[in-house]
Amino acid sequence: MTRCFKTTKAEVALALAGLTPVDLVAKELVVLQYYHGILRGRMEELRDGCAWSPHLAFVRQLMLEAGVELGGSFERRLVDWELPYPPERKPLDITLGRKEEWAEELIQPRPGVGVVYTDGSKKESGVGAAFVAQDPEGQNVGQGLFKLPDYCSNYQAEAVAQREGVIWTKEVGHPGVQNWVIASDGGAVLASMKGQRRMTSLVGEVVREAGEGHSFVYVPGHRGHAGNEMADALAKEATVSGRRVEVEIPRAYTRRQCRDRSWQLWSQEWEALEDGTGMDGGGAKVYLQFMPTLGCLRDKVWRGKAGGRRVLQLLSGHCNVGGYLASVKKQESGSCGYCGLEEEDVHHYLLRCPRWYMQRLEMDDLIVRGDPRSSLGNMFRELERLARYVKRTGRLDF
Ligand SMILES: [Zn+2]
Repeated sequence: MTRCFKTTKAEVALALAGLTPVDLVAKELVVLQYYHGILRGRMEELRDGCAWSPHLAFVRQLMLEAGVELGGSFERRLVDWELPYPPERKPLDITLGRKEEWAEELIQPRPGVGVVYTDGSKKESGVGAAFVAQDPEGQNVGQGLFKLPDYCSNYQAEAVAQREGVIWTKEVGHPGVQNWVIASDGGAVLASMKGQRRMTSLVGEVVREAGEGHSFVYVPGHRGHAGNEMADALAKEATVSGRRVEVEIPRAYTRRQCRDRSWQLWSQEWEALEDGTGMDGGGAKVYLQFMPTLGCLRDKVWRGKAGGRRVLQLLSGHCNVGGYLASVKKQESGSCGYCGLEEEDVHHYLLRCPRWYMQRLEMDDLIVRGDPRSSLGNMFRELERLARYVKRTGRLDF
């Protein structure tokens, strides 16, 4: 069976990258698009097995190996056309703040105004969300505890606490209270609601539930406010004993699964890398020149800042430069396509190629003339600067 689809940019990248672990970064993007983004319409095909497309089959395989269920429901961001036409959008009263400066006056006792403190908690024991409602005299008049699936993020827990708090005020409420202030330390959720842009479907539910009698205010955690402390304690308790609520699988979880699986593939490849295909051409495992163990490498580089994984490609010699591409027969000649002076290996790319002279200036003090080995050693000790160089040249992009 053949099918025709418009090819996306990410799929082109995937096709170019082949199926070696070299460009798992690109694959991770594709996976995220299928599960949480613009390609989610094709999830059905993923479930079918999609043997007709090697790209889809790869995505499917990766997710299954990583333990991400294909039948689950996945979090996504609402796109603009799913929201009401802008002039008709509900104006929400949301007061943001910072730890140092926030609108404390909004939670002071006022006649006719109740406060709902909300909090979320992610711990070993699970993910919990809770709210506690107080009347204008500061007496507790209601509370709710909710247990979310373990894959949920703290952000989702904050949003669930707010949503459930708002629902409580509408369904139960308290005599004499017309207006409710929702007090949360989930600043990111509040900011997303305020802009009503890039909201996740869950945050969209909070917006939908909120009405005219609701306002929201950021309250920093752990400032000794009794209501706040109580919501915090209840959220922790909720990780164990809260009422179960279903929440979509967050992007962060899919990404982490994907990364862990990618790392497995990488480390297998690295363990096997003893035959001199690495940047130094020596016999030892290449990474041993820079880090004592693979675990070290993972903590220092893989999990580090963006760009870290590009540096990993360099460390292994398995990167998008001419020499490597020629050795795996993706390119006919290994000579540098930018200057043509010599083979483009890692030394050439980092130390010699005149094309990157400007980008290299910032690392000038790390380069020891006539001693490539020390130069590279210096560079790999300054991983952040090296990652910046890699990023600026764009040479390892796909
Ligand atoms: Zn060159």
